[in-house]
Amino acid sequence: MAGRLLPNLTNPLDRPAAVVPFPVARRGGRPAKLPEADLRAAVEEGLKDPEIAERFGCSRQYVYLQRKRHGLLRPKGPRRSKSRFAPKVATDRAVTMPPVDHPALAEDRTLYPATVTGVDGLLNVLVAGANHWKIGGEIRKGRWAGFPVYALTLEERATCPASCRHWRSCFGNHMHFAKRIRHGEALEDRLAHEVAILQSRHPRGFAVRLHVLGDFYSERYVALWASLIACFPALHVFGFTARIDGRRDPVARALVQLTLAHWDRFALRFSNAPVDECSTVTVEHPRQVPADAVLCPQQTGKTESCSTCALCWQSRRRIAFLQH
Ligand code: SF4
Repeated sequence: MAGRLLPNLTNPLDRPAAVVPFPVARRGGRPAKLPEADLRAAVEEGLKDPEIAERFGCSRQYVYLQRKRHGLLRPKGPRRSKSRFAPKVATDRAVTMPPVDHPALAEDRTLYPATVTGVDGLLNVLVAGANHWKIGGEIRKGRWAGFPVYALTLEERATCPASCRHWRSCFGNHMHFAKRIRHGEALEDRLAHEVAILQSRHPRGFAVRLHVLGDFYSERYVALWASLIACFPALHVFGFTARIDGRRDPVARALVQLTLAHWDRFALRFSNAPVDECSTVTVEHPRQVPADAVLCPQQTGKTESCSTCALCWQSRRRIAFLQH
Protein backbone atom coordinates (compact mmCIF):
# COMPACT_ATOMS: atom_id res chain seq x y z
CA MET A 1 0.00 0.00 0.00
CA ALA A 2 1.33 3.45 -0.92
CA GLY A 3 0.90 6.55 1.25
CA ARG A 4 1.28 6.96 4.99
CA LEU A 5 1.88 3.55 6.53
CA LEU A 6 0.87 2.41 10.00
CA PRO A 7 4.49 2.33 11.32
CA ASN A 8 4.61 6.11 10.73
CA LEU A 9 2.45 6.46 13.84
CA THR A 10 5.42 5.44 15.96
CA ASN A 11 8.28 6.75 13.80
CA PRO A 12 8.60 10.30 12.54
CA LEU A 13 9.23 10.31 8.80
CA ASP A 14 12.67 11.88 9.34
CA ARG A 15 13.95 8.97 11.42
CA PRO A 16 14.71 5.45 10.24
CA ALA A 17 11.79 3.14 10.92
CA ALA A 18 12.30 0.81 13.90
CA VAL A 19 9.28 -1.27 12.98
CA VAL A 20 8.64 -2.81 9.60
CA PRO A 21 5.45 -2.50 7.55
CA PHE A 22 3.05 -5.41 7.22
CA PRO A 23 4.81 -8.52 5.98
CA VAL A 24 3.73 -9.59 2.50
CA ALA A 25 1.59 -12.70 2.83
CA ARG A 26 3.34 -15.78 1.47
CA ARG A 27 1.34 -18.46 -0.27
CA GLY A 28 2.01 -21.90 1.10
CA GLY A 29 2.19 -24.86 -1.32
CA ARG A 30 -0.49 -26.14 -3.64
CA PRO A 31 -4.08 -26.04 -2.35
CA ALA A 32 -5.63 -29.30 -1.27
CA LYS A 33 -7.47 -31.22 -3.98
CA LEU A 34 -11.24 -31.07 -3.78
CA PRO A 35 -12.84 -33.28 -6.46
CA GLU A 36 -15.99 -31.82 -8.03
CA ALA A 37 -18.11 -34.89 -7.15
CA ASP A 38 -17.12 -34.68 -3.46
CA LEU A 39 -17.75 -30.94 -3.43
CA ARG A 40 -21.16 -31.36 -5.08
CA ALA A 41 -22.12 -34.07 -2.56
CA ALA A 42 -21.06 -31.88 0.35
CA VAL A 43 -23.04 -28.91 -0.95
CA GLU A 44 -26.12 -31.08 -1.50
CA GLU A 45 -25.68 -32.41 2.03
CA GLY A 46 -26.14 -28.81 3.15
CA LEU A 47 -22.65 -28.27 4.55
CA LYS A 48 -21.37 -24.71 4.87
CA ASP A 49 -17.98 -23.72 3.43
CA PRO A 50 -16.15 -23.85 6.79
CA GLU A 51 -17.46 -27.39 7.35
CA ILE A 52 -16.44 -28.48 3.84
CA ALA A 53 -13.02 -26.87 4.35
CA GLU A 54 -12.54 -28.77 7.56
CA ARG A 55 -13.65 -32.08 6.06
CA PHE A 56 -11.29 -31.82 3.07
CA GLY A 57 -8.40 -30.01 4.77
CA CYS A 58 -8.43 -26.87 2.66
CA SER A 59 -9.28 -23.20 3.14
CA ARG A 60 -12.77 -21.72 3.09
CA GLN A 61 -11.77 -19.39 0.29
CA TYR A 62 -10.62 -22.37 -1.80
CA VAL A 63 -13.97 -24.08 -1.22
CA TYR A 64 -15.80 -20.93 -2.33
CA LEU A 65 -13.64 -20.57 -5.46
CA GLN A 66 -14.23 -24.22 -6.37
CA ARG A 67 -18.00 -23.84 -5.86
CA LYS A 68 -17.92 -20.80 -8.12
CA ARG A 69 -15.88 -22.66 -10.72
CA HIS A 70 -18.30 -25.60 -10.79
CA GLY A 71 -21.47 -23.49 -10.74
CA LEU A 72 -22.38 -24.55 -7.21
CA LEU A 73 -23.21 -21.07 -5.89
CA ARG A 74 -26.01 -20.95 -3.36
CA PRO A 75 -29.06 -18.72 -3.94
CA LYS A 76 -28.53 -15.32 -2.38
CA GLY A 77 -30.96 -14.12 0.28
CA PRO A 78 -30.65 -11.04 2.41
CA ARG A 79 -27.72 -11.45 4.81
CA ARG A 80 -28.97 -11.50 8.38
CA SER A 81 -26.65 -11.49 11.33
CA LYS A 82 -28.74 -12.84 14.22
CA SER A 83 -29.13 -9.43 15.80
CA ARG A 84 -31.90 -9.02 18.38
CA PHE A 85 -32.46 -5.44 17.29
CA ALA A 86 -33.51 -3.69 14.10
CA PRO A 87 -30.63 -1.92 12.33
CA LYS A 88 -30.37 1.87 12.65
CA VAL A 89 -28.82 4.30 10.20
CA ALA A 90 -26.84 7.45 10.97
CA THR A 91 -28.22 9.57 8.14
CA ASP A 92 -31.52 10.56 9.76
CA ARG A 93 -30.31 11.49 13.26
CA ALA A 94 -29.36 14.89 14.61
CA VAL A 95 -26.00 15.11 16.37
CA THR A 96 -26.07 16.41 19.95
CA MET A 97 -23.30 16.83 22.53
CA PRO A 98 -23.18 17.62 26.26
CA PRO A 99 -22.20 21.20 27.13
CA VAL A 100 -18.46 21.88 27.32
CA ASP A 101 -18.67 22.40 31.10
CA HIS A 102 -20.49 19.11 31.78
CA PRO A 103 -18.73 17.51 34.82
CA ALA A 104 -18.32 14.16 32.99
CA LEU A 105 -15.88 15.83 30.58
CA ALA A 106 -13.72 17.24 33.37
CA GLU A 107 -13.91 14.09 35.49
CA ASP A 108 -13.02 11.63 32.69
CA ARG A 109 -16.18 9.56 33.04
CA THR A 110 -19.39 8.48 31.38
CA LEU A 111 -22.52 10.64 31.55
CA TYR A 112 -24.18 7.62 33.22
CA PRO A 113 -21.99 6.55 36.18
CA ALA A 114 -24.72 4.27 37.58
CA THR A 115 -24.19 1.96 34.57
CA VAL A 116 -20.55 1.18 35.49
CA THR A 117 -20.44 -2.34 36.92
CA GLY A 118 -17.70 -4.35 38.62
CA VAL A 119 -16.87 -7.85 37.41
CA ASP A 120 -18.09 -9.54 40.60
CA GLY A 121 -21.56 -10.99 40.19
CA LEU A 122 -21.48 -10.82 36.37
CA LEU A 123 -21.89 -14.12 34.53
CA ASN A 124 -19.75 -12.86 31.68
CA VAL A 125 -18.07 -9.66 30.52
CA LEU A 126 -17.89 -10.70 26.86
CA VAL A 127 -21.47 -10.27 25.67
CA ALA A 128 -22.98 -11.84 22.52
CA GLY A 129 -22.88 -9.38 19.60
CA ALA A 130 -26.57 -10.14 18.92
CA ASN A 131 -27.33 -7.81 21.83
CA HIS A 132 -25.96 -4.85 19.89
CA TRP A 133 -27.74 -3.61 16.79
CA LYS A 134 -24.55 -2.55 15.03
CA ILE A 135 -22.47 -5.66 15.71
CA GLY A 136 -24.65 -8.72 15.01
CA GLY A 137 -24.38 -12.22 16.44
CA GLU A 138 -22.59 -14.20 13.73
CA ILE A 139 -20.30 -13.13 10.92
CA ARG A 140 -21.82 -13.82 7.50
CA LYS A 141 -19.06 -12.97 5.04
CA GLY A 142 -15.33 -12.74 4.55
CA ARG A 143 -12.60 -14.90 5.97
CA TRP A 144 -14.18 -14.93 9.45
CA ALA A 145 -17.59 -16.12 8.14
CA GLY A 146 -19.36 -18.39 10.60
CA PHE A 147 -17.63 -16.98 13.68
CA PRO A 148 -19.88 -15.95 16.59
CA VAL A 149 -19.21 -12.41 17.78
CA TYR A 150 -18.74 -11.14 21.33
CA ALA A 151 -18.29 -7.58 22.52
CA LEU A 152 -16.74 -5.81 25.48
CA THR A 153 -17.99 -2.48 26.77
CA LEU A 154 -15.79 -0.37 29.06
CA GLU A 155 -16.39 3.05 30.54
CA GLU A 156 -15.93 5.81 27.98
CA ARG A 157 -13.48 8.64 28.86
CA ALA A 158 -12.28 6.79 32.00
CA THR A 159 -10.29 4.47 29.71
CA CYS A 160 -9.73 6.83 26.76
CA PRO A 161 -7.06 9.41 25.93
CA ALA A 162 -8.32 12.99 26.31
CA SER A 163 -6.98 13.59 22.80
CA CYS A 164 -9.82 11.46 21.37
CA ARG A 165 -11.56 13.30 18.53
CA HIS A 166 -14.87 12.28 20.15
CA TRP A 167 -14.09 13.14 23.77
CA ARG A 168 -17.20 15.31 23.86
CA SER A 169 -19.28 13.74 21.08
CA CYS A 170 -18.72 10.15 22.30
CA PHE A 171 -21.09 7.49 20.99
CA GLY A 172 -21.70 6.53 24.63
CA ASN A 173 -23.54 9.81 25.23
CA HIS A 174 -26.53 8.14 23.57
CA MET A 175 -26.18 4.79 25.34
CA HIS A 176 -28.08 5.42 28.56
CA PHE A 177 -28.51 1.76 29.47
CA ALA A 178 -25.30 0.10 28.25
CA LYS A 179 -23.56 -1.88 31.01
CA ARG A 180 -19.98 -0.58 31.25
CA ILE A 181 -17.51 -2.99 32.86
CA ARG A 182 -15.14 -1.39 35.38
CA HIS A 183 -11.58 -1.69 34.10
CA GLY A 184 -8.64 -3.07 36.09
CA GLU A 185 -7.10 -6.30 37.33
CA ALA A 186 -10.40 -8.07 38.07
CA LEU A 187 -11.54 -7.48 34.49
CA GLU A 188 -8.22 -8.72 33.11
CA ASP A 189 -8.37 -11.95 35.14
CA ARG A 190 -11.93 -12.55 34.02
CA LEU A 191 -11.12 -11.89 30.34
CA ALA A 192 -8.38 -14.53 30.35
CA HIS A 193 -10.85 -17.01 31.84
CA GLU A 194 -13.68 -16.21 29.40
CA VAL A 195 -11.47 -16.27 26.30
CA ALA A 196 -10.21 -19.73 27.34
CA ILE A 197 -13.83 -20.94 27.60
CA LEU A 198 -14.71 -19.43 24.21
CA GLN A 199 -11.66 -21.13 22.67
CA SER A 200 -12.97 -24.53 23.77
CA ARG A 201 -16.54 -23.68 22.77
CA HIS A 202 -15.63 -22.31 19.30
CA PRO A 203 -12.35 -23.98 18.26
CA ARG A 204 -12.91 -22.99 14.61
CA GLY A 205 -12.97 -19.31 15.53
CA PHE A 206 -14.81 -16.49 17.28
CA ALA A 207 -14.52 -12.71 17.09
CA VAL A 208 -14.36 -10.12 19.86
CA ARG A 209 -15.24 -6.48 19.24
CA LEU A 210 -13.04 -4.13 21.27
CA HIS A 211 -14.57 -1.95 22.52
CA VAL A 212 -18.20 -0.91 22.10
CA LEU A 213 -17.27 1.96 24.44
CA GLY A 214 -13.95 2.78 26.06
CA ASP A 215 -10.40 2.06 24.93
CA PHE A 216 -7.15 0.26 25.74
CA TYR A 217 -6.26 1.85 29.06
CA SER A 218 -2.74 0.57 29.87
CA GLU A 219 0.30 -1.21 28.46
CA ARG A 220 -0.50 -4.14 30.74
CA TYR A 221 -4.00 -4.40 29.24
CA VAL A 222 -2.55 -4.41 25.69
CA ALA A 223 -0.05 -7.08 26.79
CA LEU A 224 -2.98 -9.17 28.03
CA TRP A 225 -4.57 -9.10 24.57
CA ALA A 226 -1.21 -9.88 22.98
CA SER A 227 -0.86 -12.97 25.17
CA LEU A 228 -4.46 -14.04 24.51
CA ILE A 229 -3.83 -13.77 20.75
CA ALA A 230 -0.69 -15.88 21.20
CA CYS A 231 -2.38 -18.54 23.38
CA PHE A 232 -5.80 -18.95 21.80
CA PRO A 233 -5.74 -19.48 18.02
CA ALA A 234 -9.53 -19.24 17.68
CA LEU A 235 -9.55 -15.68 19.04
CA HIS A 236 -10.00 -12.92 16.44
CA VAL A 237 -10.28 -9.27 17.44
CA PHE A 238 -11.60 -6.25 15.59
CA GLY A 239 -12.21 -2.72 16.79
CA PHE A 240 -10.98 0.82 17.10
CA THR A 241 -8.71 2.87 19.29
CA ALA A 242 -8.19 6.58 19.83
CA ARG A 243 -4.61 5.85 21.01
CA ILE A 244 -2.89 7.28 17.96
CA ASP A 245 0.07 9.18 19.39
CA GLY A 246 2.60 6.41 18.95
CA ARG A 247 5.56 8.72 19.48
CA ARG A 248 4.59 9.73 23.03
CA ASP A 249 2.00 7.20 24.19
CA PRO A 250 3.43 3.74 25.01
CA VAL A 251 -0.06 2.22 24.86
CA ALA A 252 -0.43 3.43 21.26
CA ARG A 253 3.02 2.10 20.41
CA ALA A 254 2.17 -1.33 21.81
CA LEU A 255 -1.09 -1.36 19.82
CA VAL A 256 0.68 -0.47 16.57
CA GLN A 257 3.17 -3.31 17.12
CA LEU A 258 0.42 -5.81 17.93
CA THR A 259 -1.64 -4.77 14.90
CA LEU A 260 1.35 -4.96 12.56
CA ALA A 261 2.29 -8.40 13.83
CA HIS A 262 -1.20 -9.93 13.84
CA TRP A 263 -3.51 -7.96 11.54
CA ASP A 264 -5.05 -11.23 10.32
CA ARG A 265 -6.35 -11.85 13.87
CA PHE A 266 -6.04 -8.46 15.55
CA ALA A 267 -7.67 -6.03 13.13
CA LEU A 268 -7.48 -2.77 15.05
CA ARG A 269 -8.15 0.59 13.40
CA PHE A 270 -6.62 3.83 14.62
CA SER A 271 -9.37 6.44 14.77
CA ASN A 272 -8.63 9.67 12.90
CA ALA A 273 -4.94 8.74 12.73
CA PRO A 274 -2.72 10.46 10.14
CA VAL A 275 -2.10 7.22 8.24
CA ASP A 276 -3.87 5.76 5.23
CA GLU A 277 -4.08 2.12 6.34
CA CYS A 278 -5.86 0.55 9.33
CA SER A 279 -7.35 3.92 10.21
CA THR A 280 -10.66 5.76 10.23
CA VAL A 281 -11.72 9.31 9.50
CA THR A 282 -14.76 11.15 10.87
CA VAL A 283 -16.86 13.23 8.47
CA GLU A 284 -19.98 15.31 9.01
CA HIS A 285 -21.54 14.50 5.62
CA PRO A 286 -21.07 11.73 3.02
CA ARG A 287 -19.85 14.36 0.53
CA GLN A 288 -16.75 14.84 2.70
CA VAL A 289 -15.52 11.24 2.49
CA PRO A 290 -11.89 11.34 1.26
CA ALA A 291 -11.22 9.67 -2.09
CA ASP A 292 -9.13 6.88 -0.54
CA ALA A 293 -11.71 6.04 2.15
CA VAL A 294 -14.96 4.09 2.10
CA LEU A 295 -17.99 5.21 4.10
CA CYS A 296 -19.16 2.65 6.68
CA PRO A 297 -22.01 0.91 4.80
CA GLN A 298 -23.95 0.20 7.98
CA GLN A 299 -24.35 3.91 8.71
CA THR A 300 -26.13 4.46 5.41
CA GLY A 301 -28.29 1.33 5.59
CA LYS A 302 -26.38 -0.59 2.89
CA THR A 303 -25.75 -3.47 5.26
CA GLU A 304 -27.32 -4.57 8.51
CA SER A 305 -24.35 -4.74 10.86
CA CYS A 306 -20.59 -5.39 11.11
CA SER A 307 -21.35 -9.11 10.88
CA THR A 308 -22.86 -8.70 7.40
CA CYS A 309 -20.21 -6.18 6.32
CA ALA A 310 -16.77 -7.42 7.45
CA LEU A 311 -15.00 -4.46 5.85
CA CYS A 312 -13.14 -3.50 9.01
CA TRP A 313 -11.11 -6.72 9.10
CA GLN A 314 -11.20 -7.70 5.41
CA SER A 315 -9.49 -4.55 4.17
CA ARG A 316 -6.86 -2.17 5.55
CA ARG A 317 -8.37 0.72 3.57
CA ARG A 318 -9.35 3.81 5.55
CA ILE A 319 -13.01 3.83 6.67
CA ALA A 320 -15.03 7.01 7.06
CA PHE A 321 -17.69 7.37 9.76
CA LEU A 322 -20.43 9.96 9.94
CA GLN A 323 -20.12 12.09 13.07
CA HIS A 324 -22.30 10.74 15.86
S1 SF4 B 1 -17.32 -0.61 7.93
FE1 SF4 B 1 -18.49 -2.51 8.24
S2 SF4 B 1 -17.33 -3.69 9.75
FE2 SF4 B 1 -16.60 -1.55 9.86
S3 SF4 B 1 -17.85 -0.51 11.44
FE3 SF4 B 1 -18.90 -0.17 9.47
S4 SF4 B 1 -20.36 -1.92 9.34
FE4 SF4 B 1 -18.85 -2.47 10.90
